Amino acid sequence: QPNITFDNVVFGYEPDRTILHGLSFHVPAGGHIALVGPSGAGKSTIARLMFRFYDPWSGRILIDGQDISEVTQDSVRAAIGIVPQDSVLFNDTVGYNIAYGREGADEADIVSAARGASILPFIEKLPKGFDTEVGERGLKLSGGEKQRVAIARTLVKNPPILVLDEATSALDSRTEQDILMTLHQVSENRTSLSIAHRLSTIADADQILVLNEGRVAELGSHAALLERD
Ligand code: ADP
Ligand code: ADP
Repeated sequence: QPNITFDNVVFGYEPDRTILHGLSFHVPAGGHIALVGPSGAGKSTIARLMFRFYDPWSGRILIDGQDISEVTQDSVRAAIGIVPQDSVLFNDTVGYNIAYGREGADEADIVSAARGASILPFIEKLPKGFDTEVGERGLKLSGGEKQRVAIARTLVKNPPILVLDEATSALDSRTEQDILMTLHQVSENRTSLSIAHRLSTIADADQILVLNEGRVAELGSHAALLERD
């Protein structure tokens, strides 16, 4: 698994408005970091920079020591799976949604890829598994089920880095906990960065970064941050 370093990253969308003011943090290989902080702090901006939607004004973002601005956008994106808050699914079967983008994938391919990527726990609870229709009348997937499919779709590509941008924030907390438990089962061998909304969702993170107005307000383990309060 890769490690991630933000080294004094400065960035803004408009020339006269800096959003990230020299941000530094390190996520070791296989580590899980949670980003929390008020709305507008710059959390999603961090995810966008990792995905190279933008490049920093100054400072560097390194994946395994490699400055991502020096490699192609495609190769960076291949290494990172991102799950947004509201994923858009195709009005087709769950299997199709997961296989989409996998050239020539048929049912058997999907299932074997799913096994390889250990995403079956995300599919098991759906009424007809891979055959579940996303938009079927009378059997519309719930928000939680949709996010399960969205996460599975991301994981099936086996990205070594997983970015969750409020992936479960719109769900009720029981559904959220349920999905987080499944994620926990399958994300041991990945480096992950999750943007969190509720504190209850970050218990699994080994590092918590509290961001405030584009600056690191706190950085440490769950226990260390609790001790300080
Ligand atoms: P490069 O790595 O190509 O030399 P920079 O790191 O200087 O570019 O900037 C990265 C991106 O941010 C570029 O698209 C650049 O146009 C933009 N940029 C740099 N500085 C500013 C600024 N002060 N205001 C707005 N955009 C900027
Ligand atoms: P968070 O995820 O912590 O809520 P964001 O990273 O989305 O925060 O936004 C940080 C700041 O950047 C906010 O003030 C927001 O208004 C601004 N911002 C976000 N996206 C853009 C954009 N495309 N153009 C200009 N400003 C933006």
